[in-house]
Amino acid sequence: MMTKALCNVCAATAKPLDWRCRICGGSLDLNHLPAFDPGNVIGHEFSLWRYGAMLPVARRFSLGEGSTPLVAVDLADGRFLAKLEHLNPTGSFKDRGTAVMLNHLAANGAGAVIDNSSGNAGASLAAYAGAAGLPATVYVPAATAVESKKRLIRAYGGAIVEARDYLEDVYAAAESNTYASHAWNPYFVLGQQTAAWETWEQLGRRAPAALATPVGHGGLFLGFYRGFRALRKSGLIDRLPRMIAVQSAGVDPIVRAWEAQASLPASVAPTESVADGILVDAPVRGEQILSALYDTNGFALRIGNEAILEARNSLCEAGHIIEATSAAPVAALRQIKERIGADDELVIALTGSGLKSISARS
Ligand SMILES: [Zn+2]
Repeated sequence: MMTKALCNVCAATAKPLDWRCRICGGSLDLNHLPAFDPGNVIGHEFSLWRYGAMLPVARRFSLGEGSTPLVAVDLADGRFLAKLEHLNPTGSFKDRGTAVMLNHLAANGAGAVIDNSSGNAGASLAAYAGAAGLPATVYVPAATAVESKKRLIRAYGGAIVEARDYLEDVYAAAESNTYASHAWNPYFVLGQQTAAWETWEQLGRRAPAALATPVGHGGLFLGFYRGFRALRKSGLIDRLPRMIAVQSAGVDPIVRAWEAQASLPASVAPTESVADGILVDAPVRGEQILSALYDTNGFALRIGNEAILEARNSLCEAGHIIEATSAAPVAALRQIKERIGADDELVIALTGSGLKSISARS
């Protein structure tokens, strides 16, 4: 069966460049993906393309995304294994998704590409559009976009539009450009699945007991969940890791919904947070994130600014230069350990590099 994108709401089949359902506006996910077959992993390929047989995408270009290390980290609150996603080519986990998405879009005739982003996704899009030979424009929120991240987008050759209501502007521009959305495009989430497959290989073909990520739109979170689910479906693991979603106390629609055992994200009024990468009040696949939590006996936690900055500093002092957003699950380490048991193997994804946002320490 050929892989195709189907609407999560009305099950209509989408065209290759569609970013959402043309009939009902629902989000899309991929159907009939190739089964994970360890015999098809390319042993000499040290990028996410070692899983190329499981990615139904015509590969045209790569910047060496994926193949990130998994290392032990010891902090005062406990020990965990860190998946170093901030070591991807543009300094964030987004490169896995962008690489797979843009290879798919380029192979299907995409022209100029656009996305809206506060930083990491925009830099990733600009870099991969450069590799694809496509012009890229990134819509950034005029009020909150970080200056150093805007410079990085420009350095990769991307154009920037600073918009007051940038969602409205990007949806309008999506009429005449290819909307390469890190939040909407199902091939973006597919690319993130490779992080689960790597983790499984790095643990000696096992799943960890639990896995925590920061959650905004939840692309990495769902990628891990779906990647491990593919391994279970192929009989390579017995059980899924408990999935742990960590959000900023300022914007916590998934945590509130999980606390109420609801199936849809809660509506929240965003407030200030240092975790600028996860300030998402309406995650596109919120329902799927919540169902992953219920399916894996997982849980969701919120963390305040002070604890996030403290954890960021502890990690930096331990040698891992990450941005504040990435420190959210580490700030929750004590709470996580209390719930899962101190000796249970925990993987935390470190999602974004701190090299983009170095400033005087406060
Ligand atoms: Zn639909």
